[in-house]
Order: sequence, then C-alpha cells, then structure tokens
Amino acid sequence: MKNVFAQDMKHTTFSWDNIGNITEGRGDLGEDMPVLVYRLMQYTMLDELAKVYGIDRANEHFRNAGYLAGSEFAKNTLDLSLDFNSFLAALQKSLHDLKVGVLRMEAFDPDTGEIVLTVGQDLDCSGLPITNETVCYYDEGFISGILEAYTGKKYDVHEVDCWATGDRVCRFNGSVVAD
Ligand SMILES: [Zn+2]
Repeated sequence: MKNVFAQDMKHTTFSWDNIGNITEGRGDLGEDMPVLVYRLMQYTMLDELAKVYGIDRANEHFRNAGYLAGSEFAKNTLDLSLDFNSFLAALQKSLHDLKVGVLRMEAFDPDTGEIVLTVGQDLDCSGLPITNETVCYYDEGFISGILEAYTGKKYDVHEVDCWATGDRVCRFNGSVVAD
C-alpha cells in the first residue's frame, strides 16, 4: 500500500483502509502489542461513554462498534463463500491467530439458524475481576456482524456467561432476527 494523502478519507468514518499499513508504519515494533494496551483503551473508553451516556447506552455503543468491526472483519479477511463448517473452522483459526480467543461452537440448528458459541481466553474479559455482569458487548456485536456477513441474516447475539460472571468461557447465544 502506498503512503497516499487520502483526501476523501476521514478517521471518523471507519473503513478497512483506515487501519493503514501496520507493517510499514510500525517498523521494528511490529504488529503485536500487549493485551494490557487493548484493555486500557477499551475500559477507559467505556468509562468515558458511560459517564456521558449512562451505562446502558455506553454498552449499546460498544455493541454497535463491535458489529461494524465484525462485519468489516468478515468481509475483508474471511472467505464468505465457504460452506458453514469450513467457514467456522477458518473463523476459529483466524481468531486464534489474532489472539482474540478460542472459539468453539456448542450448538447450531440449521433450520432456525440458532447458534451457541463460546470464546475461551477472551481478549476482552478473561482474567477480569468477577462483578456478576456480562461485559462483552463489543463481542456480541462483533459476532453478530460476522454471522450476518456470512448468512445474510440479521443476528441478535447475547452473552449469557462471561469471565466477569464467574465462568471460564464467554458463551454467546445467537438467533436470527425475524424480518
Ligand atoms: Zn465475556
């Protein structure tokens, strides 16, 4: 990718190109960084949004951002023409390679599209203090964005177990939103 002056791009409107050329820009530091930095960004952002909008709206904004991320991630990095099992295997590998977490499918109903997914060693929450609340709203959106990109159907995804509720994995129930 050339280092162009992109006049028609704005950093306030997300597109995949806004991620930029990480390899070139980061030089010796490379593409990786500690989870600490990610969580520092995530939970200070949530703190700020919650102060301004209240916690429910803040979580909703996180879910919406996750949805945009999941949708763009799927369209730009995954092969959406694969059959379901191959797609899931590719997604699993990708999330593992990117150190997002260990994805597993617990249940899937091909008739209704209902799905139960777990994520272990989750980037967002594994190791968090237990506060008896689910915290992975961004992940809810991320997963629904991926499922929609692949199936063409809108998905409602809800986290039912989380490290922060005292569980070892995050568990997400996904169901197709009726038109
Ligand atoms: Zn969680």
